Amino acid sequence: MNSSYLDYNATAPLRPEARAALLAALEAPANPSSVHRFGRTARGIADIARGQVADLVGAEARRVVFTSGGTEANNLALRLAIEGAGVKSLVMTGIEHDSVLRPARHSGLPTYEVVAGPDGVVSLAALEATLGAARAAHPGPALVGLMLANNETGTIQPVAEAARFAHAHQSLLLCDAVQAAGKIAVNLSQLDADFLTLSGHKLGGPTGVGALITRDDWTPAPLLRGGGQEKGMRAGTENLSGIAGFGAAAAAAQHGLYGMKNVAGLRDRLQAGLLEACAEAPVYGADGPAGRLPNTLCIGMPGVAAETQVMALDLAGVAVSAGSACSSGKVTPSHVLTAMGLPEAAAREAIRFSLGWASTTADVDRAIEAWVKLWHRKRK
Ligand code: PLP
Repeated sequence: MNSSYLDYNATAPLRPEARAALLAALEAPANPSSVHRFGRTARGIADIARGQVADLVGAEARRVVFTSGGTEANNLALRLAIEGAGVKSLVMTGIEHDSVLRPARHSGLPTYEVVAGPDGVVSLAALEATLGAARAAHPGPALVGLMLANNETGTIQPVAEAARFAHAHQSLLLCDAVQAAGKIAVNLSQLDADFLTLSGHKLGGPTGVGALITRDDWTPAPLLRGGGQEKGMRAGTENLSGIAGFGAAAAAAQHGLYGMKNVAGLRDRLQAGLLEACAEAPVYGADGPAGRLPNTLCIGMPGVAAETQVMALDLAGVAVSAGSACSSGKVTPSHVLTAMGLPEAAAREAIRFSLGWASTTADVDRAIEAWVKLWHRKRK
């Protein structure tokens, strides 16, 4: 059966450049910590990848700490903020990924959560007021967590503005750029984030590798203790092939940024096709001042559970997600949509289409056909 993979925000297909770099690194029989020539070759592979990942976000290569993925990078950022910078409270948005929200809630520090507006954008005024209240109640610096683009709606958040007032309040900002990187231009200096996190498999690299990028030097507060790899920030022999694949994917994603216009065209074709059949289908997170990611469409089918839609589309060969991938399989409504004030019933009817570098018109047209067929069947 012909199939259409429209679940890039869960995991993007491996880019050919990443596959080539990954396989080449697997052939390098050495540990980057070894001093012999093989070790030096391995270290060189990691250094190239470090530069490629840094370039994608306009950072210095020495600021990149490789991790096992976005989840570990977010956990490590919280750890550095708490143990390294001594923050006294956490001010998170309710639309953050669970890999930010859960370690925050389990940190033992007072944690504040700010909801988003119906357009999917977090209110800067609410965030700043909450930061002020947090600092008044718990004197000392706070950590503000604001993602650059949401994984479910694609809504782009006002990170640079939030960083400005976080710093004015002698506080720090963590920007989860896992979904934004490779889809829109990301620049660490412009965002002025203290911590920025990335994940390999969201931009066409392999799974199991990601990065934390810091603006400043921090005393290591590693999650894993052992060897002194990654300047003591992350013990354990480096996942060299994963790192090499991540680096190559980052470089390819950067070169392919201009091609995201085509991806946006495909996404718009998809949205128009669905709305033509069902004008009342709600589209979520598209109307913020900074817009949304060019590849993402979060849409509800009135009266039809998201699980039913995902299964019907799957039978038609179209792969999409209900809620975030990490919570798929659970029947709870998306915490992102409920944090935008959506009633639970509506949140349960929303699915996410996400496209990317290998998506085609045929993928989109197959998705439209399957979704519209289900809608006509259910409407009867
Ligand atoms: N942050 C966001 C916004 C995500 O969408 C995800 C994955 O879905 C992560 C973090 C976690 O990344 P990883 O799967 O590499 O652990």
